[in-house]
Amino acid sequence: MERNIARLKSEYFDILVIGGGINGCAIARDASLRGAKAALIEKDDFASGASGKTTKLIHGGIRYLEQFNFKLVYEALRERAIILKTVPHLVHPIEFILPAYKGDPRTLLKIRTGAFIYDQLAGRDNIRCHRPLKRDEVILLEENIGSRNLKGGVLYCDGQMDDIRLCLDNAISAYQAGSSVANKVKAIGLIKEKGRIIGIEAKDRLTGEDLTIRAKVVVNATGAWSNQIVKMDKPDATPITRPTKGVHIVYRKLPHTRAILLSAHKDKRFFFIIPWRGVTLIGTTDTDHAGSADEVYASGDDVEYLLEETQRAFPHEHIDRAGMITTYAGLRPLVNTQGIAPWHVSREHTIKESASGLISVVGGKYTTYRHLAEEVVDMVLSKLRDKNFKRCVTQKIGPSSPVSGEEDLDLHKCIERAVKYEMANSLTDLLVRRLQFATTPSLGLDRLEECGRIMGEFLNWSGAQKESEMRLYKEEMRKNTTN
Ligand SMILES: Cc1cc2nc3c(=O)[nH]c(=O)nc-3n(C[C@H](O)[C@H](O)[C@H](O)COP(=O)(O)OP(=O)(O)OC[C@H]3O[C@@H](n4cnc5c(N)ncnc54)[C@H](O)[C@@H]3O)c2cc1C
Repeated sequence: MERNIARLKSEYFDILVIGGGINGCAIARDASLRGAKAALIEKDDFASGASGKTTKLIHGGIRYLEQFNFKLVYEALRERAIILKTVPHLVHPIEFILPAYKGDPRTLLKIRTGAFIYDQLAGRDNIRCHRPLKRDEVILLEENIGSRNLKGGVLYCDGQMDDIRLCLDNAISAYQAGSSVANKVKAIGLIKEKGRIIGIEAKDRLTGEDLTIRAKVVVNATGAWSNQIVKMDKPDATPITRPTKGVHIVYRKLPHTRAILLSAHKDKRFFFIIPWRGVTLIGTTDTDHAGSADEVYASGDDVEYLLEETQRAFPHEHIDRAGMITTYAGLRPLVNTQGIAPWHVSREHTIKESASGLISVVGGKYTTYRHLAEEVVDMVLSKLRDKNFKRCVTQKIGPSSPVSGEEDLDLHKCIERAVKYEMANSLTDLLVRRLQFATTPSLGLDRLEECGRIMGEFLNWSGAQKESEMRLYKEEMRKNTTN
């Protein structure tokens, strides 16, 4: 996958997608697979926004049943089944224990009823029906979780994904299907003619070059940054998204084999404790974020909240900052709804079109990305009125890159691959997203020098450039570990 700057400058696209998160990558892929001429630009790196900071679940969202949002859960469960079938190398079933304690906001009856409804909504494509658990059965399955005041629980299944790789594979697959794709290209303005958008002004952040990209339809898939693009269209426009921050702690492996879903004592929200590649993920928080979408890190309060709640779940473990490996934080691009707590805002998506033709994707969950992309492309193609476009095939064909799922431990080869075929052009791209070393116990710092040397050879970096790349990576790791 090469950065197609020359094509971006010279061609006239049917659809130009701004934002290389899961939604933008999937929209470009779907459009190209249907025969449309598509372009995709990302200002930083694929999956550098919310799509690389998730709880890594492809799930119906059992908690949305409490909000009686059966439509969202039904749709997400249907998508879960499609993704499990079409992307089996990146998504697999995972067992959850949902325990109920005396005094919990969710009684045993309530969680058992919820799990029953969850199964019904999943229908024939369910992974496996839930099992009600007596108190002793919960303890038998997970002997280290708190047993005091435990009433019982349920065992159910959902999907676990590699969020970063799934997003990257959608970008690669979009490219293979014909999309012009480039990371490190930022949209900085919209071009209009007679009040209609006919393209964008962009900046190549690697070379500093200004670009003009022309397209019949421009799609704003910039997640938590959406309001900035909307304001380029109409400076006095009302914000369309309400960004809320979600934090995860990457903790040393705790003694559990399944994922655990618990009610936090502090605010009664659900939170997860999940096994992930030899460590434990703990998350998440949900708080409004008024600052820059480019600077999102866990605060001391976020960390304390998650550690305290985890201590309750594992009373015999000593849970404190010493066990923390790192943190990561992302912004949910929720639909702009005021007057209710962030965790009560619906996770449904909407697609908005402005008077000048800008199509913006708002809200949504990672799980429903495929369906969202299909809806956006349907809408764009119906505007283009060209009968030659093909039907959507993403229900049957998932993204797969030639490198997916490979276990390749030769660092030199891995890099070569990341630079040549996966558009990695900074050490952070490589270590955080191509190799995913940033969530391992060493944070990748033990391989930093070696990675810097190898990547520098491929990209002809000067000594000073290599040092600067290494400094930037260390700084990012410091921000994630000093909370
Ligand atoms: C903490 C957390 C946990 C979550 N867990 C789950 C989960 O387990 N399961 C689930 O289904 N959902 C989950 N979600 C929701 C899910 O992550 C999001 O709905 C989804 O990733 C949004 O994808 P996106 O492509 O719209 O946005 P993003 O991934 O944020 O992508 C937007 C991209 O646009 C780029 N961009 C911005 N401005 C410009 C510009 N001017 N020019 C070019 N590019 C630009 C950004 O750099 C960014 O990469 C979670 C969200 C959070 C925050």
